[in-house]
Amino acid sequence: MSAPNIETIVSLSKRRGFVFPASDIYGGLGSSWDYGPLGVELANNIKKSWWNWLVYERDDIEGLDSSIIQNRLVWKYSGHEQTFHDPLVDCRTCKGRFRLDKLQDVQCLNHPDVHPGENKECSLTEARDFNLMFRTTMGAVSTEDDPAALAYLRPETAQGIFINFANVLNTSRRKLPFGVAQIGKAFRNEVTPGNFIFRTREFEQMEMEYFCRPEDAGRMHQEWIDGFQEWIQELGISSENLKLYEQTKDELAHYSERTVDVLYRYFPEREDEEKQWDELMGIANRTDYDLRVHSKKPEDAGGKRINPDSTEDLSYFDPQTNERLYPYVIEPAIGVNRTLLAVMMDAYTEKTNDKGETRVILKLKPELAPIKVAVLPLAKNKAEIVDMAKTIKRSLQPSMRAVYDDTGGIGKLYARQDEIGTPFCVTVDHESLVDNAVTVRDRDTWEQERIGIDVLKDYLQKRLA
Ligand code: ATP
Repeated sequence: MSAPNIETIVSLSKRRGFVFPASDIYGGLGSSWDYGPLGVELANNIKKSWWNWLVYERDDIEGLDSSIIQNRLVWKYSGHEQTFHDPLVDCRTCKGRFRLDKLQDVQCLNHPDVHPGENKECSLTEARDFNLMFRTTMGAVSTEDDPAALAYLRPETAQGIFINFANVLNTSRRKLPFGVAQIGKAFRNEVTPGNFIFRTREFEQMEMEYFCRPEDAGRMHQEWIDGFQEWIQELGISSENLKLYEQTKDELAHYSERTVDVLYRYFPEREDEEKQWDELMGIANRTDYDLRVHSKKPEDAGGKRINPDSTEDLSYFDPQTNERLYPYVIEPAIGVNRTLLAVMMDAYTEKTNDKGETRVILKLKPELAPIKVAVLPLAKNKAEIVDMAKTIKRSLQPSMRAVYDDTGGIGKLYARQDEIGTPFCVTVDHESLVDNAVTVRDRDTWEQERIGIDVLKDYLQKRLA
């Protein structure tokens, strides 16, 4: 089972402290969200899983953390100033402003039962290009529109990797093929953000640029498409809720030769099966486009440098073939926020207890669970039991995220931990004072086992692994 719709996750997130609307006490700020005590842990665990899988478990990938604000020329030569647009239309009747290619995802402001353009009163303007980059000014400026001070918040983390290609290559002494991985915030002034954390103007990306010889790019692209599907499923996301989409020639970004998107079933409630899916990640073959455009050497047909501002040549000398070339780049790019939403939707389960009540269980993979174990005293007015529970919590804490909770009856405490995905609850009762053992309750089966306190940590670590 998975969540019936995104709304279910919105309400669970707010109720339990995963995600809150940003600036809520001032009425919010369209589509901005803050990650609460559990949300930040879940997001960190997703990032850790991605980083471990790429940077630690393989031998061919380095990490990087580049600046959010870069020289404006980065965005000139990457093509973002010229082409990072969405087609925008206004409705003269309802005064709504929409993205032309996403009309099916939004409602007419006057007639919410139809999409913009579908009611006879709708009057949409011609589409015009709207650049998605957030602008800011850098340093002390005399006027707001001083072109010398204009800067952008990065719309993707990728460019920070391309402009550091020579730095990483020279310091790490890598040979092709190798990759550079980066996790960080990106900003896009989206025309129609929405669907909770699915599309926001500030979000976080996990991007890896894998540099290879041009003739290997097709094969390596396919290997990354396959590899990422496996990693996504290792996060606990069911293959039934995933599918691939091959972008058409018209849809490809200006730098891409081939892009395959991994789609997740974010909208299971939609009747039309085709409309249940949207992009979780994109895997592009960016060719040698980016390294070339940021390099000082390449020339156009008329013999003019295509980049007269760059001071570096980002080519690669292959010692095996004795030739200099611009490597091709395979880019698997995935959003932290969209991954978190998919993970929560897929983990969402309902179960009926003996009394016929419906309980929510978030069946997160233990690796991702914000809290690994909750230690609960059966009687909170009995000092020895409370002391023992707190001591157990402290002894587990260095090896796993553990919490102590005595703020309710045991049934309520179990239900709360199930709902936030805690794999194990440890209960300390009167008997524990005698037999030095505790009850360990499994989140998914609700089965209980008696375990000696001296072996508890090992037992939990084994089951969490
Ligand atoms: P879309 O078509 O949904 O606008 P995109 O194809 O422009 O997305 P990419 O440029 O490929 O997105 O970015 C890589 C990943 O970053 C996306 O697959 C998604 O997971 C994430 N992402 C992109 N835009 C947003 C956004 N506005 N909010 C949240 N995540 C985003």
